Amino acid sequence: MEKQEIIRILESNNLESIRKKAYSVMKEYSGEKVYYRGLLEFSNICINDCYYCGIRKSNKESNRFSLTKQEIIDIAVWTADNGYGSMVLQSGGQKDDKFIDFVEDVLKTIKEKTISEKLPNGLGITLCVGEQTHETYKRFFDAGAHRYLLRIETTSPILYKKLHPETQTLENRKECLRILKQIGYQVGTGVMIGIPGQTIDDLANDILFFKEYDIDMIGMGPYLIHKQTPMKIHTEEMEKRKKQVFNLSLKMIAAARILLKDVNIAATTALQAMDPIGREKGLQYGANIVMPLVTPSRIRKDYQLYDGKPCIDEQSSDCRECLLNRIKSVGREVGFNEWGDSKHFFKRIK
Ligand code: SF4
Repeated sequence: MEKQEIIRILESNNLESIRKKAYSVMKEYSGEKVYYRGLLEFSNICINDCYYCGIRKSNKESNRFSLTKQEIIDIAVWTADNGYGSMVLQSGGQKDDKFIDFVEDVLKTIKEKTISEKLPNGLGITLCVGEQTHETYKRFFDAGAHRYLLRIETTSPILYKKLHPETQTLENRKECLRILKQIGYQVGTGVMIGIPGQTIDDLANDILFFKEYDIDMIGMGPYLIHKQTPMKIHTEEMEKRKKQVFNLSLKMIAAARILLKDVNIAATTALQAMDPIGREKGLQYGANIVMPLVTPSRIRKDYQLYDGKPCIDEQSSDCRECLLNRIKSVGREVGFNEWGDSKHFFKRIK
């Protein structure tokens, strides 16, 4: 029954009625406030080779960087001082001891340095550093990360294989999500929408997977091409399907909201890469999280998972104001100095 309902939404052309329904569910179960997650991309070094990703290890044209501890802490303090409440620390996948020690140390220091009257528990930290072991996830959790994002990208075994080398398996990713939940994180995942060969049935299964895994946070976006990857062969096809894929992305947000009700859903930057007001539209279809970039401007161009990433020439302060105006333009307000945790998480752990 649920699957049929999702398929009905994804196949419908009545976007306005879907939008209204999703918005009213969001209002009832999550509220209308929008929460910021300052997104810091602190290293683009990656040991993995996802075929669609601009910073995959085989892309020799990518300029690799890693920020220093001091740079990360300064940015975290700026993020807290500017009322964001939370930040996302994201990097390419790295698993060596030096990286793990570094992240652990950074997490502890951010927590220490961002405690204030407005943020008595410091910045809320979401970590997004890929697949790790149980022990590593636990260390990061104990060091202060309380949310973790690990996108599954697709739950279709066939599509997953088309997008990843054999060493990266769907099963391992699912296992990581299980471990994260078991440790006590608020767990986020998401998928790409419009992958060549992906069907409506696949997308409906993705949403059912979010439900089955009791996911707390969702970040989904259109499948976008990076020309320095093997997926450049799809460039022309994707250009032709742009509008269809964008609308499908909005319907996926709406369907996730209608079915899952109280989860946090991000209006991702990838939506804005397709439509200048893509993120605002995402908010109107049931999203309640935005992730303004706090990555230093000088390295933003080097962290491009796909071509056409917006905001790469802006400063963090520009993004703050720009997003605030965008959010106000759709009649929403920002929950400054709030963590804005997923309501679903608290229900789940009761
Ligand atoms: S998607 Fe993530 S894990 Fe895959 S290559 Fe890109 S940064 Fe690495």
